[in-house]
Amino acid sequence: MARRVHIVGGGLSGLSAAVEIAGSGQHVIVHEAGPACGGRARSYEDRKLGCRIDNGNHLLLTANDAVFRYLGLIGALDTLQGPDQPIFPFVDLEKPCHWTLDLSMGRIPWWVFSATRRVPGMRLGELLSLKRLIDASPTQVVSERLLPGEFSRRLLDPFSISALNTPSDVASAALLGHVVNESLAKGGRACLPRFPKVGLSESLVDPALAHLAVLHGEVRTGRRVTGIETQAGRVTALVFPDERIAVGEDDAVILAVTAPVAAGLLKDALPDLVVPDEFESIFNAHFRLARAPMPLGSFAKTRFLGVVGAVTEWVFLKNDIVSVTVSAANRYAARDPEELGRQIWGEVRKALDGLLDAPLPPEPPLQRLVWEKRATFAATPAQLKRRPPARTGLSNLALAGDWTATGLPATIDGSIRSGVAAARALGLRGSVPG
Ligand SMILES: Cc1cc2nc3c(=O)[nH]c(=O)nc-3n(C[C@H](O)[C@H](O)[C@H](O)COP(=O)(O)OP(=O)(O)OC[C@H]3O[C@@H](n4cnc5c(N)ncnc54)[C@H](O)[C@@H]3O)c2cc1C
Repeated sequence: MARRVHIVGGGLSGLSAAVEIAGSGQHVIVHEAGPACGGRARSYEDRKLGCRIDNGNHLLLTANDAVFRYLGLIGALDTLQGPDQPIFPFVDLEKPCHWTLDLSMGRIPWWVFSATRRVPGMRLGELLSLKRLIDASPTQVVSERLLPGEFSRRLLDPFSISALNTPSDVASAALLGHVVNESLAKGGRACLPRFPKVGLSESLVDPALAHLAVLHGEVRTGRRVTGIETQAGRVTALVFPDERIAVGEDDAVILAVTAPVAAGLLKDALPDLVVPDEFESIFNAHFRLARAPMPLGSFAKTRFLGVVGAVTEWVFLKNDIVSVTVSAANRYAARDPEELGRQIWGEVRKALDGLLDAPLPPEPPLQRLVWEKRATFAATPAQLKRRPPARTGLSNLALAGDWTATGLPATIDGSIRSGVAAARALGLRGSVPG
C-alpha cells in the first residue's frame, strides 16, 4: 500500500506541502478544520456586500520565488496581474502630495537621481538606511536603523509595516534587511507588484485543489484534529472529534496549523517546543460602490495606492470594491471598528481625489470591516528566536506555517516555503524535480 502523508491544515503552507509531495506515489490527505481551504488567504461570498471578496488584500512581488514556483506547479501563473513596470503610486495625506515611485528595472538604482521617480523630499544620503538595515544585528529594531527624513517616513517605514506587520519601533531590522536584500536590492525586476486577477482562492487555492485531485490527493474539510497520539518518538494516530486515524509505520504527518494550535496539539509529545506567542492584527475595510469607477494615471496601471500620514495604508480597487488595508493594527485596538471605518472612508475619498473619473460619495457606502486579530506573529527580535525549524523530535512529524523558521516574515512566500521545507525534512519529494 502507498505510504500515507497526513497534512493537518489546508492553509497555503499545508497546500504547498501537499503539492510538493503529490505525484510521488504517496497518498496525500489534507485535513482542514474549516469549511474551505485557504486559511488566512482566502476568498468568500460576503452576504452583506452581496459579492465575493478576499479576507484581506494580499500583495506579492516578483521576488517571491517560492510563490511563482508553486503557481507554476499548480498551473496558475496566469491568474495574477500587475503592471509591467515596478511602479508604486503614493499619496501623503499629512503633507499633501502625490507621487509614483518608479524603480529602475536593473540593479543600478537610476531612479534615485530622478526627481519624478523617487520619493519627494528624500535626500540621497538617506539611502544609507538600506545598508544599515542589511547590516543590522539580530537584536536591533527597524526604527533605530532608519535615518530621519522623507525616504524613511514616506517609503521605508510604510514598507516595513506592510512587510513585517509590526510597528517599526519593535520590528526586527535584520528581518527587514533580508527583505530589502531579496527585493529592492535586486532591482525593479524583482519588485513588480502582483495580485490575483479574480481572488486569492482562485489563484492560490482552487488550482492547488484541482491539481491534487488529478494526483488522487484527498482534501477533507470540516475535519479538526483535536489530538496527536505518539509512541516511541513517532506519531501513531490523529484524533478527530468523531474518529481516530492510525498513522502507520511508514506514514508521515505535516502539521501546518497556526502556532498556538501546533503548540497545543504537541504540548505532551514535545513539551520543549517553543513557538511565537505574540501576534499582530490587520484591519481591512471593504467598500462596495454603486458602480465601478474608472481609475486614472498610474493608479489605472496598478489599481492600488500607498497612503502615508493616515490610518489607511493601502487602497485597492477591484471593479466596484474599494478595499483598504491597515497593518500592525494592534495600535488601534481601543478604537471602535465602525468609527475607524468612517475615518478610513474619509481618507480614501481624499486619497483617490483626482485618481478616479468621478469623486466618491461623502457617506460611506455598503461596507465590510474585517479585523484579523492574529493575522501574523509579531516580527520582533525576541519572537524571531521562537520560530522552530520544520524538523521535530518526532521522526515522522514536520512543522509548516508562516511562523516556522523560514527566514522570511509571515507572508505567502514564507508559508509556501515552509510547506516545501516540511516535505524535505521528512525526506518526501514528489512532483518537483531536483
Ligand atoms: C489580512 C491579511 C493580509 C495579509 N497580507 C499579506 C500580503 O499582502 N502578502 C503576503 O505575502 N502575506 C500576507 N498575509 C499573510 C498570509 O496570508 C499568511 O502568511 C499565510 O496565508 C499563512 O498561511 P499558513 O498556511 O501558514 O497559515 P493559515 O493560513 O493560518 O493556515 C492554517 C490552517 O490550519 C487550519 N487549522 C487550524 N487548526 C486546525 C486543526 N486543529 N485541524 C485541522 N486544521 C486546522 C486552519 O483552519 C487554516 O486553514 C496577510 C494575512 C492576513 C490575515
